[in-house]
Amino acid sequence: MSFASVSAVCIAALTALTLGGPASAKSATPHPHAHQAEVALTIDDMPALMLDDTPSMTLRQRQAYIDDYMQRLTRGLVRHHVHAIGFVNAGKFEAGIASQQKRVLTRWLAAGLDLGNHTYSHETPETLGAKGYVQDIAHGETWLRPMMAHYGRSLTWFRHPYLKTGATAQTRATIENWLAKHGYRVAPVTMDADDWLFAECYDHALEHGDTALAAHIRHDYLQFARARITWFRQASQLLFHRDISYIFLMHATRLNADVLDAYLAMLKRQGLHTVSLERAMRDRAYRSPDRFLSAKGTDWLSRWAQTRGIDIPKDEPEAPADLERLYHRIDPDT
Ligand SMILES: [Zn+2]
Repeated sequence: MSFASVSAVCIAALTALTLGGPASAKSATPHPHAHQAEVALTIDDMPALMLDDTPSMTLRQRQAYIDDYMQRLTRGLVRHHVHAIGFVNAGKFEAGIASQQKRVLTRWLAAGLDLGNHTYSHETPETLGAKGYVQDIAHGETWLRPMMAHYGRSLTWFRHPYLKTGATAQTRATIENWLAKHGYRVAPVTMDADDWLFAECYDHALEHGDTALAAHIRHDYLQFARARITWFRQASQLLFHRDISYIFLMHATRLNADVLDAYLAMLKRQGLHTVSLERAMRDRAYRSPDRFLSAKGTDWLSRWAQTRGIDIPKDEPEAPADLERLYHRIDPDT
């Protein structure tokens, strides 16, 4: 599975645009036959992930756009009692608006939500080398660790950008040893719905005032997430003969803020109730051997399957072709 490259600069302000409004929450009654399971929601690329190329917006407008949706996302998670964790790229802080970007994170902490380190620059072990990569992780905590201490929290969790953990055993060992020595735990991913792809198309639609396209994206995203959940649960059945406690990778986007109510209602209908990352990680599945070595990133169910020599279902749902095309047009670097 591919994980989109994420540009380091992520800021901004479309709040003036009139939208169709967030997708409305439907009944949250679980499907009578839905098996119950736990899921932790993890929000990457904090303080925000937004389409880079928004020519009609100034830097301050972009930040206003982000401030608006991140406040709504933060409040929505708290309102629904979702103990989410956000993973921070401190390299996204930019001269001139860094204080506003940091405020997104302090509001998040003040709301009782958790934060983890996602490296400083969102680079990979292959790009930086193992030593450069751990330096980048250390650089990523210079603001984060004291800020978390200020809120009475300790920095524990680390998420690998693109889920890339190293292509050689030596690289992996260097990184893992460094993380353990510095008190980190790695946050795996066992559910994912390519939300970055839908989200950047969504930013593009909003920038162009295309409310019909925005509504189409919200609808397709929820449908796709549901299909992906089914696929991950099938993979879990194959590997563990049960639902594990899942860890869902999401991103700090306008799309997730706008669909949050409907998204959480969809999870409930699937029989999934949200838990903290720490709670999900108590599942013994996360102690399964992972000997995955690759320059590519992938989720942990695929890693465990490969480690055990098992084939997981090949029919992993793919994002709609029209949105794939739009994504590659508006973000051609990826
Ligand atoms: Zn990321």
